[in-house]
Amino acid sequence: MSSTADAKGDNPHRVRLNSAYIRALECAGLVPLIVPPLADPSGALSILAAVDGLVLTGGEDVDATIYGQDKHQESNAPNAARDATEIALVRAAREMRKPVLAICRGPQILNVALGGTLIQDIPSQVPGALEHNAVRDRAARVHGVRVEPGSLIARAMGETRLTVNSLHHQSVEKIAPGLKVTAVAPDGVIEGVESESPGWWVLAVQWHPEEMTDSPEPWDRGIFRAFATKLAGE
Ligand code: MN
Repeated sequence: MSSTADAKGDNPHRVRLNSAYIRALECAGLVPLIVPPLADPSGALSILAAVDGLVLTGGEDVDATIYGQDKHQESNAPNAARDATEIALVRAAREMRKPVLAICRGPQILNVALGGTLIQDIPSQVPGALEHNAVRDRAARVHGVRVEPGSLIARAMGETRLTVNSLHHQSVEKIAPGLKVTAVAPDGVIEGVESESPGWWVLAVQWHPEEMTDSPEPWDRGIFRAFATKLAGE
């Protein structure tokens, strides 16, 4: 599998990834390989060809101009290399039918790569929105989610009504062609997305299951197990 890393404004500039992703994937029996943001995104394709699946991880906001909007004042500065690399990875993964597990920024870049749009700032754009950016405790279950019965997410988690952690201020808005919404928060914010394309396994969640692998509830470990099972060809 491969998973893209975050490039932040360090001095010197660095590429880094929260180690919770590595732990969660290793616990599911997978061997992660980190793909950095590349100046030439076409290089990502040969990496993808060499692995079994793709994990899209959390991080900064996707550049709004890619989906035809002006940048909202609350949006972060864009990371052009990361956006381009991940968009290339998503399109190649669809082409090659490589399974995709997408987390937080993951469903967002997935949706943008396939032609959808994003809500750029939930607090100012969704009337009556719940708190979705509960950063004080990354593992706190802060809001409910209703999952479509029979969906990949429901089968992976073994539940259709659960509570999740939430560390985001953006979300999927207009869903891209070929994707479908399979989980929503009580305020209507989209929390889970899957593929409608035959033969392309995609499980995308807006919360952070990698922060919940020690939770008493087995739900989030189930997400990594479902991905690992898919990669094993079972
Ligand atoms: Mn949320």
